[in-house]
Amino acid sequence: MTDPDPAATRVLVLNSGSSSVKYQLLDMADGSRPASGIVERIGEGEVADHAAALKIVADELAAQGAGLDSPALVAVGHRVVHGGTRFTEPTLITDDVVAEVEKLVPLAPLHNPANITGIKVARRMRPDLPQVAVFDTAFHSTMPEHAARYAIDTATADAYGVRRYGFHGTSHAYVSRAAARLLEREPGETNTIVLHLGNGASASAVSGGVCVETSMGLTPLEGLVMGTRSGDLDPAVIFHLARVGGMSTDEIDTLLNKRSGLLGLCGDNDMREIGRRMAEGDRAAQLAFDVYVHRLRKYVGAYTAVLGRVDAIAFTAGVGENSAAVREAALRGLEGLGVEVDPVRNAVRGSASRLVSSGNSRVAVAVIPTDEELEIADQAYALVTDAAQAPSDWNIPLRNKYR
Ligand code: AMP
Repeated sequence: MTDPDPAATRVLVLNSGSSSVKYQLLDMADGSRPASGIVERIGEGEVADHAAALKIVADELAAQGAGLDSPALVAVGHRVVHGGTRFTEPTLITDDVVAEVEKLVPLAPLHNPANITGIKVARRMRPDLPQVAVFDTAFHSTMPEHAARYAIDTATADAYGVRRYGFHGTSHAYVSRAAARLLEREPGETNTIVLHLGNGASASAVSGGVCVETSMGLTPLEGLVMGTRSGDLDPAVIFHLARVGGMSTDEIDTLLNKRSGLLGLCGDNDMREIGRRMAEGDRAAQLAFDVYVHRLRKYVGAYTAVLGRVDAIAFTAGVGENSAAVREAALRGLEGLGVEVDPVRNAVRGSASRLVSSGNSRVAVAVIPTDEELEIADQAYALVTDAAQAPSDWNIPLRNKYR
């Protein structure tokens, strides 16, 4: 790699999902975001495939005066869902890295192929530009072995890569640091429970900036109740549905990933709609909410025990940032654990990071809007420029930040 041009300060972040490509251009010199957008419904007619979607992204960037050929670009940062045990840090993409990520496809059959296509097309368009893979699993790679292991036969587990990897890591990393910053504490001295509650949902326990436990496992199916995923259940449910219900593996996979969670319980996976139905006395919606919140409380309790001392509980993503009702219900009655939500603060809507705990609460309860694009851009920029300091953020030396 040649030394980057000091005038090149922009990072393009690409998030190639199974049916959409999101992009955002960030200028690390001034924190501005000169371009962003999303190409959706890939494979449904107009946008034939990911290559076509990336071509649209390139055209849109050019139309916004920020074409892919711009000399201001210093790197492309790619979100990659599964890094397995192989990738635990942001990684400069080479042919070998692409080949290694391809080997991980069996672990993330829906996500990694889309991520890989995004990488390949972007590399073809700008072969000279450093491109960096930022893995959703990486932040969780610090989990101790006793948290990452399932209690099954070790040889079988190792033969098939069966262990807990965790996901949403970029968000958990960003939010745990932002929570420390909100408390005006060093991340290295702060213990945080992060609750990332979007359509997918996961919890993590972060001790002194290091992830020690998270709720998703081999795949994103484990853990919290989600929009359409069941989260935790007795694994024997699967054998029962196969043997007694006559369902195929694929049918059960679809049931648990796409037709369960809030959707399975009440027919809606949008918390706003569930709130409206609850206000009308709808019992199925109320039960879905209650199951969702009960699971959350269990994880807050468990992670309090894992951490020993909790400084902050941070809510993020669509539900976590917007649903005062979920925050209130999940933490109600936890005064014994030093957690007290202030109903007035909690009800205030806003787009900034904020505290919603009462003055008496020993544990700070925070709402922190997540910013995965910024985190990916920061990590990519830091890697390609070898910066000692993250450009956009919190005066945290990068060596502590990522290592
Ligand atoms: P995400 O995956 O982070 O984009 O979150 C999407 C989910 O956030 C949606 O499915 C909704 O359930 C939830 N959500 C978004 N806005 C609100 C809101 N104002 N109140 C409650 N839930 C919301």
